[in-house]
Amino acid sequence: MPTTDEPQAFLEVRDLVKIFGADRAVDGICFQVGQGEFITLLGPSGCGKTTTLMCIAGLHQPDGGEIWLDHDCLTAMAQRIYRPPEQRGIGMVFQSYAIWPHMTVAQNVAYPLEVQRVPREERHDRVAEALRRVQLLDYANRPAPHLSGGQQQRVALARAIVFNPRLLLFDEPLSNLDAKLREEMRIELKRLQQTLGITSIYVTHDQAEALVLSDRIITMSKGRIEQEGDPRSMYARPVNRFVSEFIGVANLLSGTVTGTAHGQAVVDVTNGDVSCTFRCAATDGMSPGDRITISIRPEHIRLVAEPAAATGDNCMEGEVVAAVFLGNYIDCRVQWGAVEWKIQAHRRQAIRQGRRVWLAIAPEHCRCLRD
Ligand code: ATP
Repeated sequence: MPTTDEPQAFLEVRDLVKIFGADRAVDGICFQVGQGEFITLLGPSGCGKTTTLMCIAGLHQPDGGEIWLDHDCLTAMAQRIYRPPEQRGIGMVFQSYAIWPHMTVAQNVAYPLEVQRVPREERHDRVAEALRRVQLLDYANRPAPHLSGGQQQRVALARAIVFNPRLLLFDEPLSNLDAKLREEMRIELKRLQQTLGITSIYVTHDQAEALVLSDRIITMSKGRIEQEGDPRSMYARPVNRFVSEFIGVANLLSGTVTGTAHGQAVVDVTNGDVSCTFRCAATDGMSPGDRITISIRPEHIRLVAEPAAATGDNCMEGEVVAAVFLGNYIDCRVQWGAVEWKIQAHRRQAIRQGRRVWLAIAPEHCRCLRD
């Protein structure tokens, strides 16, 4: 038995390390997942998401750390504990659906049960139940290749849930689908996971997918966790420049703190031959002289005809260099010195390229980030 402390959470990953040659693909990460929770590992290509997933599945042997599932120690490298993949009770859905083309839908789903030598009758019932849960029961006898991409993905999901796994792992499962289907499948997958109630870890580099699907997002970079939190708080309160740029769109300005007062930080921003003193939502531990980045979301910038300094907003004048009508808003670019602001303007606003406008931004929407 392991000598390490028993975990509190359903899944617990502790100080996980995986090294490939000189590359620390996963560099000592820790996280917990509650029972029934859907979490996403989000980050750019090569940040260690898949490697983390493979370590949990038992397809990679880590170089350090522990993995616990439902009070069961799957991996504890210091104690030389390493449970093989088939004994972990984990289902996986991959990017390539890994559907066998020469089999029917039902045969594909039955495959893991055959490997486990489940008796024929029980196999039949469990396949039917898995297909019913992904709404493919009517397709049971169809050759698997005669299905749409989205349906094939659901077959892959049925095959992953047919042996009642304790945990489901998804590795970019929607990235082979076209954009429209991908959007539909996100919602469908979320609904299915909620119905199934199986604890799930999902890997993607697509922030929109992470925002739609997740109860909680873990944003990774270079083998480490940058931030974890629910989608709303991660979007509203990114902790650093990396997260701010990776989740959603952000306008980022470099500046120097000149003072703090009344819950606000005063930040000087000079860019080319223009400058502005910003009042920002204060962040703990900021002092005069600190170099910081101000992050402002496009939907928080108002375009006004005159300077609105009296309202207490941050104000600056610029020139509209592009304005594209996108149905529910106008995607607008405004040049201010060397900075090109990205702005979501109201769809009814009369904005023309070449026009001079004032930008007004409330201090609570200016977020100070450490570089
Ligand atoms: P992607 O979204 O592109 O799949 P990722 O975030 O999932 O990226 P990983 O696949 O986990 O990233 O890779 C993390 C790092 O480990 C990368 O630098 C990668 O080149 C390296 N790596 C992954 N698998 C191996 C392997 N089998 N052998 C050597 N290096 C590997």
